[in-house]
Amino acid sequence: MEKRAEILSGKVFAKAIKEEVAEDVKKLKEEHGINPCLVVVRVGEDTASEVYVNSKVKTAEELGIISEHKHLSEETSQEDLLAVVEELNKRDDVDGILVQLPLPKQINEKVILEKINPEKDVDGFHPVNVGRLSQGQEALTPCTPAGVIDMLKRANIEISGKNAVVVGRSNIVGKPMAMLLLHENATVTICHSRTKDLAGVCSNADILVAAVGVTGIITDNHIKEGAIVVDVGMNRLTDIEEAKGFFGEDKLAKRLKTIEKRGSTLVGDVNQKAAMEKGSYFTPVPGGVGLLTVAMLMKNTIKAARMRRLK
Ligand code: NDP
Repeated sequence: MEKRAEILSGKVFAKAIKEEVAEDVKKLKEEHGINPCLVVVRVGEDTASEVYVNSKVKTAEELGIISEHKHLSEETSQEDLLAVVEELNKRDDVDGILVQLPLPKQINEKVILEKINPEKDVDGFHPVNVGRLSQGQEALTPCTPAGVIDMLKRANIEISGKNAVVVGRSNIVGKPMAMLLLHENATVTICHSRTKDLAGVCSNADILVAAVGVTGIITDNHIKEGAIVVDVGMNRLTDIEEAKGFFGEDKLAKRLKTIEKRGSTLVGDVNQKAAMEKGSYFTPVPGGVGLLTVAMLMKNTIKAARMRRLK
C-alpha cells in the first residue's frame, strides 16, 4: 500500500504556539507591567523528571517567562512539600505552580495537587479545574490533551460532528481529551482496558486518539480508512522483529539502527506503518504530540497570569 497520511508535526505547531506566547509575554510586560512567573517543584532524583523539568524551565526562559526550579530531597515529607506549595500559593509574583509527578512514595499526590491554588494550577489537575472543564467553563486544562485540540485546529481539521474515539481514561490524558473533544462537538467514545472489541470500536473513529502506554496496540484493524490518528503514547520498542512490522520502509532502517545502538527506540501506541497507510493525518512518535505539551504549559502559564491578575 502506498504512503498516504499527512504528518502533523509537533515541532511546527509547538514553534507557532511558543512564538505566540513570547509575543503575549511582551504584551503583558509592556501593557500591564506583569512579569509572568512559573515555578516547577521537583522532589527526589527521578531521571525522567529531571529531563522534563529542565526542558520546562529552559523553554520558559526562552519565552521571557520567569522560571524557578525548586528541587527538594527524596526524603521530603508530605508536610514539608505542602508548606512549599502553600508559600507559592501566597506569593503574588507566582502565576503558575507545577509539582512534577511522580512523587516519592511517602507523599500522597492527590493531597499535594489539591493544595495548589486552582488559579495557579498550570497542569490543570486540580478538581476545581477538572470540574470547570467538565462544565465548559474557562479553566486551566491539562497540557497534553489541550495541545492535541490546538494542533487539530491549527491544521484546520474539522472536529464538529466527527466520531472521536479516545483509548485511555486517565485523569491526565484520556478523560480531559474526551471532554475537550466533546466541547468541540465531536461524538465521543472512551475505551479502556475492559472495552470489548477495541478494534471494532476504534475502526468507527474519524478521529482516533491513543493514550494507553502499550506499544502498537492500535493496528491496521483499528484504523478506519482516512481517519485522523493521534498517538499520545510513549513507549520503548526493543524487539527487532516487532520493529520490522511497525515502521514503513522509509523509517525502518534508521529505527533498526537506533535499536542496535541504544537497545530501544521511542514509539507510541500506534503501529506507524498502519497509520501511514490508512490514516489521512498522523502524529508520529517522536515528533508529534510530545513536543506540544511543554508549549501548552507555557500557554497555560500566560493564561493563569491573565486570569488571576487582570480579572
Ligand atoms: P495511564 O497508565 O494512566 O492510563 C492508561 C489508560 O490506558 C488506562 O485508562 C487504561 O485502562 C488504558 N489501557 C491499558 N491497557 C489497555 C488495553 N489493553 N486496551 C485498552 N485500554 C487500555 O497512562 P497515561 O494516560 O498517563 O498515559 C498514556 C500514554 O501517554 C503513556 O504512554 C504515556 O507515557 C503517554 N503520555 C504522553 C504525554 C506526552 O506529552 N506525549 C503526556 C502524558 C502521557 P484502565 O483505566 O481500564 O486501566
